[in-house]
Amino acid sequence: MKLTGYTHSVESCGTVDGPGIRFVVFMQGCPLRCLYCHNPDTWEPNVGTEAHVKTLMEEIVKYRSYMRFSGGGVTVSGGEPLLQPLFVAALFERCRENGIHTAIDTSGFCKMTPQIERLLSFTDLVLLDIKSIVPERFLEITGAELEPVLMFAKYLSNLSIPVWVRHVLVPGLTDDETELRLLARYLTTLTNVKKVEVIPFHKMGEYKWRQLGLDYTLGDVPPAHSRSVEKAKNIFISAGLTV
Ligand code: SF4
Repeated sequence: MKLTGYTHSVESCGTVDGPGIRFVVFMQGCPLRCLYCHNPDTWEPNVGTEAHVKTLMEEIVKYRSYMRFSGGGVTVSGGEPLLQPLFVAALFERCRENGIHTAIDTSGFCKMTPQIERLLSFTDLVLLDIKSIVPERFLEITGAELEPVLMFAKYLSNLSIPVWVRHVLVPGLTDDETELRLLARYLTTLTNVKKVEVIPFHKMGEYKWRQLGLDYTLGDVPPAHSRSVEKAKNIFISAGLTV
């Protein structure tokens, strides 16, 4: 058991990271470098606030009634929650004891370990951000290999852990119709996908890249148009998936 972990920040009443009203914990550290990341300030590991499970739980239980009436819970996001699996597992174990629903928001980029398996045993829902189903495209977006994500998705499917897939729609990068159809077809091979969320690209995190002295290469890319979002959603619906 690991009772402390490095967090970036918390949000007490989040409404976009899973069902209902959620207490969201943003972890510090991420192995990927997505071109459209809006939280590059979470990338560096072992910095930020060293949070204790006990202190976090004292804060979380204050919002239990909001979570109950809205069907919400706790979401651990990032950064990448799978980088600190024992801390998140310890937090979720306490959530379970308190009847609080648990979710992680992850890229799924990891090597399966007993620690991650332990974390997943306390996880009610995985928000899985699949950046692309095409290996070359995934590499272009993240700087990493796609294969570990597919292995992670398979593991979740084998264990029937509910998954909401999230796909950020970036004009000219992740909105290609053929690639979206490939993604939709792949998702139908999994047994546990409850929902697909198409998230329109925005540039709200661009200023953070500049503050960190990083080169933001998507500065000229427009936000995703609502028509493209609808088109993408229809591709998933046509494959029999829920959006
Ligand atoms: S996985 Fe998430 S936090 Fe990590 S670089 Fe990509 S978008 Fe940013």
